[in-house]
Amino acid sequence: MIRSILISNRGEIAARIIKTANKMNISSVAVYSDADKAASFLQKADETVCIGGNTPLESYLDSAKIIAAAVSHGCDAIHPGYGFLAENSVFVEQCREAGLIFIGPDAESIRLMGDKERARQTAQEFGLPTVPGSGIVKTPEEIRTVCDHLGYPVLLKASAGGGGIGMRKVDNAESLAQAFSETTDRAEVAFGDRRVYVEKYLEEPHHIEIQILRDKHGGLLTFYERECSVQRRYQKVIEESPSTSVNPELRQQLRDAAGMLIEGIGYINAATVEFIVDREHKFYFLEANTRLQVEHPVTEAITGLDLVELQIRIASGEKLSLDESTLPIKRWALEARIYAEDPHRFYPSPGMITVYREPDGEKVRVDSGYSTRGMLTPYYDPLIAKLITWGNDRDEAICHILQALDNYQIEGIKTNIPFLQEAIASPLFRAGGYDTHFVEKLRAN
Ligand code: ADP
Ligand code: ADP
Ligand code: MG
Repeated sequence: MIRSILISNRGEIAARIIKTANKMNISSVAVYSDADKAASFLQKADETVCIGGNTPLESYLDSAKIIAAAVSHGCDAIHPGYGFLAENSVFVEQCREAGLIFIGPDAESIRLMGDKERARQTAQEFGLPTVPGSGIVKTPEEIRTVCDHLGYPVLLKASAGGGGIGMRKVDNAESLAQAFSETTDRAEVAFGDRRVYVEKYLEEPHHIEIQILRDKHGGLLTFYERECSVQRRYQKVIEESPSTSVNPELRQQLRDAAGMLIEGIGYINAATVEFIVDREHKFYFLEANTRLQVEHPVTEAITGLDLVELQIRIASGEKLSLDESTLPIKRWALEARIYAEDPHRFYPSPGMITVYREPDGEKVRVDSGYSTRGMLTPYYDPLIAKLITWGNDRDEAICHILQALDNYQIEGIKTNIPFLQEAIASPLFRAGGYDTHFVEKLRAN
């Protein structure tokens, strides 16, 4: 059994993991950069270690420093959270070489799924439908041929991309060459990897994803879907589970497809298989994330399970004593991501939080990494917290989240709370069935 975990992350997700470690009587070691010296996510950790630096490269991406801290503090395991080193197969190998358990899949699974184009190919091999598109395209001539064949609009995607970064919609052949050159350059800068592929751009789709857990004994659990179509810049802002756009038949198909892929590649631990679903309820594999997902709390809220605890148990070699029939959905859950950003244009708004007061309530959960006098620096993701509410039905969950947003007090910086209030209270959201163009449609009204 794992007795001591180092968390190689920061902010709300570090606080979230520490909470479960404390509950399980596992000691927690939190690392922090110079920029995070006074950060509140460190408060509940048993031990904290300064790894210095400000930028991610100098701190939460510096695998040598992180592994050295874990070894010198006698940790058995590392939990990577999401982002940073969570989907880095070399880091997984370095952990193993240092005698540390990586709480996540093995390096080979990350290699198969972490690269988006390779994951697409793997999904095809296991019979999952993928969006019509290409393999890696290298030259302007090659991409022109591919896109003329697919028909416009198309979406260029960095194979190493994630978090909505590295995608570019192209509406016609005239703008293709320049978009291609800019996307490859941008991918090089952001990910150190120029490789780009193309997908047909689907109109008005839904982003629907399936959470999965699989243990070392072959035990598999596929959860009910999460609806993540409320996005800006291809990144999620509001998520819910279940989805108003998924009927029982589609749900079963999505769970089966996700399960087939995860079993097929022999994947162990938590994963999320993302799908895009079109107007005719046809679904296509998008990508698989080999880590805990930002929006995992909505799944926890409808099942009552602790996914971090289950990740730790799986990594310790335990057999999951859960079966599919224990996954009731008697509840509806919503999550709103609270970002330090301008609520109109969604630009990051760094600075110091002068007043911070969280809402509370029986069916309200706040996962946060900041408090009063917390600093939102430009170095990291501007996510302040996640607000999760639930209820016996969707209306109740909506009622709780609107009330909680009203009671959320953050001063000193701009936040997207006014946007979240407007979005969730809108007839468009209340009616359900919204697609990934939700924000544009909301603004057009
Ligand atoms: P999720 O996929 O869990 O719903 P996001 O898409 O918002 O959430 O991504 C989670 C976090 O991981 C964000 O902080 C995002 O910037 C980061 N991230 C995801 N993939 C990558 C990547 N390939 N490179 C760098 N950062 C990434
Ligand atoms: P990331 O790795 O950044 O999470 P994804 O491939 O998961 O990128 O796509 C993120 C979002 O971009 C999707 O949720 C969806 O809104 C949009 N998107 C991705 N592929 C397509 C597509 N082929 N057509 C239309 N929208 C897409
Ligand atoms: Mg994605």
